[in-house]
Amino acid sequence: MKLLVTIDVEEEGLFSGNYPREESPASNVFELDALDSVFLELNVRPTLLVSYQVANKDKALKKMFGLKDRWKAEIGAHLHHWNTPPIVFDPVPQPTPSELMSTDLLEAKASSLFESLSDGQSRPTSFRMGRFNLGPKMFQVLERMGVKVDSSISPLRKSYGGPDHLMAPSDPYFPNPLDPREKGKSSVLEAPVSILPIFRGVDRRLDLLSKTRYFPERATEWLAMNVASIAIQPAWVNLNVAKAGVRLHRARGGKCLTIFFHSSELAPGMNPLNTTKEAVRTFIKNLRTFIQWLQTRYDAQSYTLSELYPVYEQLRVTSKENQQD
Ligand SMILES: [Zn+2]
Repeated sequence: MKLLVTIDVEEEGLFSGNYPREESPASNVFELDALDSVFLELNVRPTLLVSYQVANKDKALKKMFGLKDRWKAEIGAHLHHWNTPPIVFDPVPQPTPSELMSTDLLEAKASSLFESLSDGQSRPTSFRMGRFNLGPKMFQVLERMGVKVDSSISPLRKSYGGPDHLMAPSDPYFPNPLDPREKGKSSVLEAPVSILPIFRGVDRRLDLLSKTRYFPERATEWLAMNVASIAIQPAWVNLNVAKAGVRLHRARGGKCLTIFFHSSELAPGMNPLNTTKEAVRTFIKNLRTFIQWLQTRYDAQSYTLSELYPVYEQLRVTSKENQQD
């Protein structure tokens, strides 16, 4: 089993329902040290997907490069398209869905972010879109920016501004650039976050329901999240549920797990999940227990997002060769 631990390293205030365009504090990133006990002791190399508001602060950025060295981590890019320059004011509910922005504007925003994360020699090759708001326009930008691995697809999820990811695959795949929720021939590898349909076909049925006028969007979102899916995410679910998800994933032939959480979840009170120091300690303990279980039971091997690329590229080459034989 391949294990990817990915962290959205970002500014504070995003769980308040506001998406300010102004500069925001990012003191939470200094709490990430608490993960030493997971990453160093279990030999896990995470991917830090860093937002512009973090990258644009000298001390916070220095912290990222320090963690990169200490954890042998990868630094990738995390685009909050609502507060990454150039900022454009749109008369729609915030955050503006990325598909309503022009490709040129999205590319300019991605360039600001990638530039701010460059160490002078190299730029990020892994990426996640803020609020998983990835559609065909942003995907084209990723192809042009030289991104190798994207992790912006959240299967069985649907939220404001879509496009929804209800029917996306659960294991890594090369997407169709015109619809990154389906398999195709892109050069960018997609590593979706690990959320599974609870039974095969439930995603298709939800998709059909969501297209009827009797079924409000919010109802589909709720059903998809609370009934129809199982999230292999220790930040969200208890470990018995996460373990059940792993068994199901394996039984369906799944080979890769992509765990994700936010940097602010290490800072008590700066997120809705872990409001106290005790809750943060419990989260870290659960994460550690879960990874140890994966290592013991499934021989989980740690990969950063970009490290996954050559593995799947080789699989693609081999399957093409087999087709030609
Ligand atoms: Zn984010």
